[in-house]
Amino acid sequence: ADSMHSKLLAVYEKAEYFYHHLLVNSKAGEEAYNYLLNRGMTKESIETFKIGFSPPQRQALKLYLDNEGLNDPEVLKKSGLFSDRDDDTFVDRFTNRILFPIADARGKTVAFSGRAFLEAEDNHRMAKYMNSPETELFNKRRILFNYDKARASIRRDGEVILFEGFMDVISAWQAGVKNGIASMGTSLTEEQIHVLDKVTDHVVIAYDGDDAGLEATKRATDFINRETHFTIDIASFPENLDPDDFIQSRGKEAFVEFLSHGRDTLMSFLLKYHRKGINLKNESERLKYIEVVLRELARVSSAVERELYLNQLQEEFDLSVDALKEQMHSFIVEQQ
Ligand code: ATP
Ligand code: MN
Ligand code: MN
Ligand code: MN
Repeated sequence: ADSMHSKLLAVYEKAEYFYHHLLVNSKAGEEAYNYLLNRGMTKESIETFKIGFSPPQRQALKLYLDNEGLNDPEVLKKSGLFSDRDDDTFVDRFTNRILFPIADARGKTVAFSGRAFLEAEDNHRMAKYMNSPETELFNKRRILFNYDKARASIRRDGEVILFEGFMDVISAWQAGVKNGIASMGTSLTEEQIHVLDKVTDHVVIAYDGDDAGLEATKRATDFINRETHFTIDIASFPENLDPDDFIQSRGKEAFVEFLSHGRDTLMSFLLKYHRKGINLKNESERLKYIEVVLRELARVSSAVERELYLNQLQEEFDLSVDALKEQMHSFIVEQQ
């Protein structure tokens, strides 16, 4: 029980407590606290997610842990909470940031992500988010933000909602959507998919409504399709809004409504995706569009779904179903 593993967990537990306490109860944390409240985060969420604040002092955490008797240099080094330096001085990795604790599947905090929030003039040079480095406890490829809290709801609802960011997960939570998770700012990994595979077979992708979010959605659908037999739905948020923006500007009810009734099936998302920027009046662009749609259809396993979209294409472009089918089947053969 005295392994490095449990020592690291103890350090993270103390650090989480320290940072959260500073955010909620100290003068130093006031600006950060108000920033969150102004963005619509509730006090209850700040408690539930144990949001914290790392003060500007370069050794605030170091001194606190010292006082708590946690001063084994080997443990501190491996924690990732301090910047690596050649001498034995430890400098806090996180300063002047709002901290989101990241828990493993059992709910133990194993990392932080820190958000810069000051409007100071030199602030734009700071990366908006900074994560803990990989450690013995923190495997970035495996971990999903909020998976520990969302798991029961994912099972109950029969689906998981995949967001881009922490703020999206928390805002959705406040709107009553408790089955949301986020993949830590990186694209979805095989390991994360396998974690989800154990609890559900239905994923709703709810990435940001900007171009980056759209491209990330397309990549995620291809990837999930390759790895699993999940049913995939897409919630494409309008006007460049991300889910959190949408909730702040249109309200919780509109969000819940959009998430349940405004979502697209995978195929109708792909049709919209491939159609963007294409001039269907131009013959070669039209042919290319039909080809790419038939390629997507060739990957659909449900014969009924294929038939449905083939009929749509046939009507829209006044082509024979036989010709469409023949071309689609040649793509199926190519894929095998
Ligand atoms: P906010 O609403 O606070 O601006 P966001 O979640 O909308 O945050 P995005 O820019 O949409 O932020 O990024 C989505 C996610 O990508 C973030 O929540 C974070 O996990 C990750 N991310 C963004 N920028 C960085 C960065 N510079 N380094 C590491 N991760 C990042
Ligand atoms: Mn984004
Ligand atoms: Mn965003
Ligand atoms: Mn946002």
